[in-house]
Amino acid sequence: IPASFNAAARDVALQELKLQGYEVVVSDLYAMNFKASATRDDIIGDVRNSEHFQYGEETLHAGMEGRLSEDIVAEQRKVTEAELIIFQFPLYWFSFPAVMKGWIDRVLSQGFAFSLEKMYDNGIFKDKKAMLSFTTGAAPTMFQPDGINGDINVTLWPLQNGILHFCGFQVLAPQIFWSPAHSPPAARAAMLEGWRTRLKGLLAENPLTFARCELFDLSFQGGFLLRPEVKEELATQPLGISTGHHLGKPLPPDNQTRAATAEDERGNGKKACGSIHTV
Ligand SMILES: Cc1cc2nc3c(=O)[nH]c(=O)nc-3n(C[C@H](O)[C@H](O)[C@H](O)COP(=O)(O)OP(=O)(O)OC[C@H]3O[C@@H](n4cnc5c(N)ncnc54)[C@H](O)[C@@H]3O)c2cc1C
Repeated sequence: IPASFNAAARDVALQELKLQGYEVVVSDLYAMNFKASATRDDIIGDVRNSEHFQYGEETLHAGMEGRLSEDIVAEQRKVTEAELIIFQFPLYWFSFPAVMKGWIDRVLSQGFAFSLEKMYDNGIFKDKKAMLSFTTGAAPTMFQPDGINGDINVTLWPLQNGILHFCGFQVLAPQIFWSPAHSPPAARAAMLEGWRTRLKGLLAENPLTFARCELFDLSFQGGFLLRPEVKEELATQPLGISTGHHLGKPLPPDNQTRAATAEDERGNGKKACGSIHTV
């Protein structure tokens, strides 16, 4: 919505990245009236099994045969050409608004964005970057581990790991605009200035850290589980690997909100994810 804070954040990114010489393409999903539901209409021509329509299977084959609907193909082309994708949105129910979730369901289709052989750090988009940039209604303390909403790192895990990293993207730390509607004008202006400053170095930032595929037995017999020798090594570590791979231990702090720093790489107890590279 043009007058919203989200539109202002989008415009700052647009201006700043253009100033740096990047070509910036915007998909304004509400303005496009983008279809959110994943349905049979997404396939041009016949489907393989109309009695039991399975969206994933059908779109995999339709994609290979060039029979996905035009709106999906147009967005997939943008993804293919992009070096960085910024998802700009208001947090709805701890997640994306429905139209953006619909974009993810429909555009990041099997075969185009992932396969069982190509996922996570072996994923199709491993040479691309992606990040979340979002506004909240909640104040930051509400999303602390001891706040009423619980740890924001837990909220972000399915979005950043389950979607972005699953497709291979290097995930940059999220840009969180805390509660702009309840902030005074000067604070809102400062948030946008902070975003502008960050954008100047955004493409040089280190991505977030996740458990690497090589730590797992990537076979159905092995159940895609951590390899025993890795598990043994990790048993001695004080923290879990990541927010999701917590292994029943305390979560590595800020795992979903902050990139690994050089200090982490050297090792100071916060580097649980970095340490697994040595296993
Ligand atoms: C269905 C639903 C579910 C939700 N679920 C959650 C949830 O799970 N967790 C949560 O925390 N919140 C939740 N919310 C709240 C929601 O995240 C916030 O309402 C939203 O993030 C606010 O962003 P906005 O862009 O709409 O802000 P706006 O209300 O558009 O903007 C905030 C203020 O910024 C001002 N502004 C606009 N442009 C500029 C500019 N250039 N410079 C300075 N100021 C400017 C506006 O005038 C306004 O005063 C939910 C809301 C809905 C409707």
